[in-house]
Amino acid sequence: MRSPAGLQELLKRAGVVFGALLLAACGAPRQESRDAAADKAFKVVTTFLPITLFTRAVAGDCATVTPLIPAGTGPHDFQAKPGDLTALRQARVLVKNGLEMEGFLDKLVASAGNPQLKVIDSSRGVTTLETENHGDAHGKEHGHHDDHGSAHGHDHGAVNPHIWLDPLRAVQQVETIRDGLIKADPSCAEGYRRNAAAYTVQLKQLNSEIASQLKPYTGKTFIAFHDFAPYFAHRYGLKAEYLVDVPEINPSPADLQRVAAEVKRSQLKALLSEPQEGNRSFNALAKDLGVKVVVFDPMETATEEASRDPSTYLKLMRRNAADLRQAFGQ
Ligand SMILES: [Zn+2]
Repeated sequence: MRSPAGLQELLKRAGVVFGALLLAACGAPRQESRDAAADKAFKVVTTFLPITLFTRAVAGDCATVTPLIPAGTGPHDFQAKPGDLTALRQARVLVKNGLEMEGFLDKLVASAGNPQLKVIDSSRGVTTLETENHGDAHGKEHGHHDDHGSAHGHDHGAVNPHIWLDPLRAVQQVETIRDGLIKADPSCAEGYRRNAAAYTVQLKQLNSEIASQLKPYTGKTFIAFHDFAPYFAHRYGLKAEYLVDVPEINPSPADLQRVAAEVKRSQLKALLSEPQEGNRSFNALAKDLGVKVVVFDPMETATEEASRDPSTYLKLMRRNAADLRQAFGQ
């Protein structure tokens, strides 16, 4: 399926864009020569998994969608390389989550110097929640996180960026992406409208399902590894606690004590860990407390395969809800 010319091109651009390009190439919908198709296509670049999935859902066959962040890397620890500029230079539209989730992006866009690039901030108009403070007893111990947290906008008192984990806020993101794509590429307006409508129906259905599944647990607290869950919790009448602000940092002894106390208070049966690395301290803590660890995927990283299919979001959210019920002891 790979033409020699395409392969050569890929090898030339070896480095972090390799995966993204390979992915874009394999996902090209047209059967004609891929290079020709790629040249003609309306090119859209996205940042991390949920944004890629929402954009692919809306774009359908109207545009080619290329994620900027390679598979297996999260927006927290993404380091741009010069090759990343190629995708931005060729794209007409860049879609981001916004709310400072993609802290690396502004500089990268400026370096790309692409005057025709339109940026869609999918968080526009979405009601946000502030990152919660753990209270006076913990405020001091948490001060050391600020250095790291600022890279992700996770400082206490800052806006929490994880809006995509609420399916109804995801609907708003999809509608904003739809409107931005129609504006940038009116020739496929009908397609964008139809695709967005179909995906929105599925997101609303997902929301009703999760709402009825989690209804018996209204008011309960769950504990996540990093601070990704407030929008999800808020939507379904739950409370979200967390061990650390962002996934890269190691918890302090005070963090571990706070979580241990919360597990005892709430009689939680499990801690929610994440599929990526960085959970070792969490697993050890769960063992100490005699509770299980179940996975809740905040979708900040993904495999290439997962990022190709917009239904990945629906699948992972259904699994998250099911695993959460396990954490509550079901
Ligand atoms: Zn995060």
